[in-house]
Amino acid sequence: MATILVTGGAGFLGSHLCDRLIERGDDVICLDNFFTGKKRNIQHLLGNPRFELIRHDIVHPVFLEVDQIYNLACPASPEAYQYNPIKTIKTSTVGMVNMLGLAKRCKARILQASTSECYGDPEVHPQQEDYWGHVNPIGPRSCYDEGKRVAESLCMNYHLSHGLEIRIMRIFNTYGPRMDPNDGRVISNFITQALRGEPLTVYGEGKQTRSFCYVSDNIEGMMRLMDQEETVGPVNIGNPTENTMLELAEQVLQATGSSSKVAHLELPKDDPKQRCPDITRAKQYLNNWEPQVDLKTGLKQTVAYYKELLNL
Ligand code: NAD
Ligand code: UDP
Repeated sequence: MATILVTGGAGFLGSHLCDRLIERGDDVICLDNFFTGKKRNIQHLLGNPRFELIRHDIVHPVFLEVDQIYNLACPASPEAYQYNPIKTIKTSTVGMVNMLGLAKRCKARILQASTSECYGDPEVHPQQEDYWGHVNPIGPRSCYDEGKRVAESLCMNYHLSHGLEIRIMRIFNTYGPRMDPNDGRVISNFITQALRGEPLTVYGEGKQTRSFCYVSDNIEGMMRLMDQEETVGPVNIGNPTENTMLELAEQVLQATGSSSKVAHLELPKDDPKQRCPDITRAKQYLNNWEPQVDLKTGLKQTVAYYKELLNL
């Protein structure tokens, strides 16, 4: 049993992680500024004596005693992270320094929720961890991409300079229940549009690809990465099954039974054309980790969640 800090713990991934850690018997401190997180995601944990909630912003230092830190605090959807780009950069840089400082003082191991966005609009396919990426440093996504790249560099330099125990996880598109229905990401948009009988907004021609990992597979990979001793990372965690956005729209229509049409909207600037993880490293270091939930099954669970949440 350990005391574990989860920053961004009221968010989509963070709340599922809190659930798993509590189930395992750990003491969990969930820290969140509620920028994109929701109380409803952790409400069921509030009465649990092993669960504590702190409203705090990681851009400001915090003094706690913990054994491990999962640093998930950062808006993840392009709409949310571009809302206040300077704040997004501060969260991934100043916030990262604060969390690394805390880890150093407590001699705690820290896992950083990094991202496939470190690869930018990749010229190598599928993406392996040793690919350095193709990122526009001044584009609209740079507040997120470059912030996360600096965060990785900070982690590695704290490791090299101070012997800090770090773990770097490069997360590819992940979806599932508790994803905010209004966060603008493709799966939440498509499902809520389909359930309301509205057109599914496909950006551009819809030929761009993403690889979608179900949340339970992500959290399993995250905990295995934190607890293994062989590598500090980076390690890709994602589902290597790749879909175009048009294929995704078709799957969402099937999962919802909706007869919505598809509406093509303008493609956002610097939207990556393709994205697919090479998960060889994850398999090698994380006890043969690989996704267990296929898109059809995961979409079914996610549709059920939105139906109940939105009363649709
Ligand atoms: P989310 O927006 O649901 O969760 C992020 C949480 O962090 C929210 O609860 C938010 O309120 C909180 N937060 C934001 N800034 C903060 C700050 N300065 N101080 C304290 N709390 C703050 O997003 P998510 O999908 O759960 O993503 C969690 C992490 O995983 C993020 O770091 C994200 O970059 C990373 N990630 C997610 C995906 C994905 O597909 N879900 C992909 C790549 C990386
Ligand atoms: N997208 C789309 N319609 C939407 C939202 C997103 O076609 O309503 C596309 C977007 O252009 C991108 C992909 O879906 O190519 C994934 O977008 P998302 O915002 O979910 O995450 P990203 O992988 O771009 O960070």
